[in-house]
Amino acid sequence: MAERIDGKAVAAEVVEKVRTAADALRAKTGVQTGLAVVIVGEDPASQVYVASKGRKAKECGFHSVEHALPEDTSEDDLVALIERLNADPAIHGILVQLPLPKHIDEGRIIQLIDPDKDVDGFHFINVGKLGTGEVATAFVPCTPAGSMLLIERVLGRDLSGKTAVVVGRSNIVGKPMFNLLLAANATVTVAHSRTADLPALCRTADILVAAVGRPQMIKGDWIKPGAVVIDVGINRIPAPERGEGKTRLVGDVDFDGAEKVAGAITPVPGGVGPMTIAMLMANSVVSAYRAAGEEPPV
Ligand code: NDP
Repeated sequence: MAERIDGKAVAAEVVEKVRTAADALRAKTGVQTGLAVVIVGEDPASQVYVASKGRKAKECGFHSVEHALPEDTSEDDLVALIERLNADPAIHGILVQLPLPKHIDEGRIIQLIDPDKDVDGFHFINVGKLGTGEVATAFVPCTPAGSMLLIERVLGRDLSGKTAVVVGRSNIVGKPMFNLLLAANATVTVAHSRTADLPALCRTADILVAAVGRPQMIKGDWIKPGAVVIDVGINRIPAPERGEGKTRLVGDVDFDGAEKVAGAITPVPGGVGPMTIAMLMANSVVSAYRAAGEEPPV
């Protein structure tokens, strides 16, 4: 049976380090790490994410600000808010919860965020830095950064000689995951909906990262014996066994099948999910250190 990679425990360690680092910066320079989270509209899943980001920021000792704007907020008003936050020296990280309502140009808003406060790592400057190996001064998107930390726990930092397959090529998960694995010397293939014979390709992977958004798509017999499996997927499916109308969360990997073959695997929930918020906190405190002219310790 595969080792279960405990993302909750690793995330708690990261948060503890962030809290210590934030306290140390405040004690030395008086700078309190500030994180602003912006949400537009009423999407219930987004509201849950924003609330938990705010709670975690407080746990880390941050100055945490939430801007909850109504669904019909104009693009100009959102632009004005981002510009205010860019100029506010008390704010070191700006996170705009996606998706934004359809009438707002998401790309324009993301590119307006000061790259030095872009703790989501979605600005072209940060994407370019990651793509060219300037990882030390970049902000790396939180989900792939957290996934890498979990891989590191099992295999170490140097993935020389390892074959990795990333299933999914989104800008927020698949592509940055590719860059991080490549930077760690893995030999990486990125698969997507047009890939031929995905099961055979997955079977070549020493490290398999699933970021597809399709519940339990990746089966046990797609997995190379002993592989490290990172399941990024978060899918809600009906769970009639829990009662009428009940649901449960599953990943993109069929956990029960995969667990019998893999060497190590992340569960859903409790794997990559908690790492994403932890890495957001880590990026925020790093930003505060940089703003204060101090060397970030995390
Ligand atoms: P996207 O929908 O943006 O991308 C999905 C990718 O999967 C696309 O590249 C798509 O290919 C590919 N794909 C879809 N169907 C197939 C298929 N049948 N075979 C092979 N590839 C396929 O999703 P995200 O990257 O944003 O998210 C992926 C998953 O991760 C989701 O479940 C999401 O909820 C979860 N997630 C979890 C986070 C966390 O904190 N743990 C954070 C972010 C996301 P193509 O490009 O060809 O369309």
